[in-house]
Amino acid sequence: MIERPDTSWFTEVFDSHGSAFSLKISEKLHDVQSPYQHLEVYATETYGNLLVLDGCVMLTDRDNFLYHEMIAHPALFTHQDPKRVVIIGGGDCGTLKEVLRHPGVEHVTQIDIDEEVTKASERFFPSLVASNNDPRAELLFADGVKWVDEAADESIDVLIIDSTDPVGPAEGLFKTDFLKRCHRVLKKGGVMVQQSESPLYHSATIIRALRHDMQEAGFDSVATLPFPQPVYPSGWWSVTLAGKATDVESFRETAAAQHEMPLHYYTVEAHRGALTLPPFMRKALSAD
Ligand code: SAM
Repeated sequence: MIERPDTSWFTEVFDSHGSAFSLKISEKLHDVQSPYQHLEVYATETYGNLLVLDGCVMLTDRDNFLYHEMIAHPALFTHQDPKRVVIIGGGDCGTLKEVLRHPGVEHVTQIDIDEEVTKASERFFPSLVASNNDPRAELLFADGVKWVDEAADESIDVLIIDSTDPVGPAEGLFKTDFLKRCHRVLKKGGVMVQQSESPLYHSATIIRALRHDMQEAGFDSVATLPFPQPVYPSGWWSVTLAGKATDVESFRETAAAQHEMPLHYYTVEAHRGALTLPPFMRKALSAD
């Protein structure tokens, strides 16, 4: 993190893209070096509390709903009848909370490598951990790569990879052989979703490579869904879905239209619209 002259700002610099993002802060609330990453929490003037891992913005009170709704609901409304869900990463528990809104889901296992993230969420982001005592929720603290390695064949309906960027402990979560193991542990009709970085910065690189690797790993269909995310690089983010013997370009539209969940961004129209990629992305993703 580069301190600005006026240190009442938190700034994340995206050097390779020549851009940066700043939030005016009023106080540093927490700072811990875990065995895996450096964790900080700040109180900001306009975005509520801010969680930072290794200098990268993870989430704020104000806009985390965009990411947590879009990493959970498109995948869950794409699967025909999700009962057993697994989240790799997601230690802030915001994704877990969204998954548990689905009454048909019977069991959710969340595996984050760093318990310090969940402890910080319990102290500084109480709304995100509101569902942690749901009897369907199981929280484990382990390496997600290893957990998937040891998981049984065809045992999961929806697999959510809610990890940090593909560096450090999360690097293994983006590798082809990990994706092959994700394919193995999903049941037929299973859906995997992975946060897939910025459509503006990464379409021709990370996103195209991830989609290719998902297909190499055996997934029959892939779909990238962009959505706004002010605090992430370029202010625009994406998730990529992959289907095992199922088409992730279509979803349960009636269920997505008729649910009674109190959501703030996800709607059946937003889902349908996100499946219609803008021309620049279609071009970048299909380039040989
Ligand atoms: N929404 C955030 C984003 O898109 O950057 C990520 C949410 S969550 C805070 C990311 C989590 O991934 C962190 O809690 C981190 O501990 C976890 N993580 C990183 N590598 C992991 C691994 N190999 N196994 C399990 N969790 C991992």
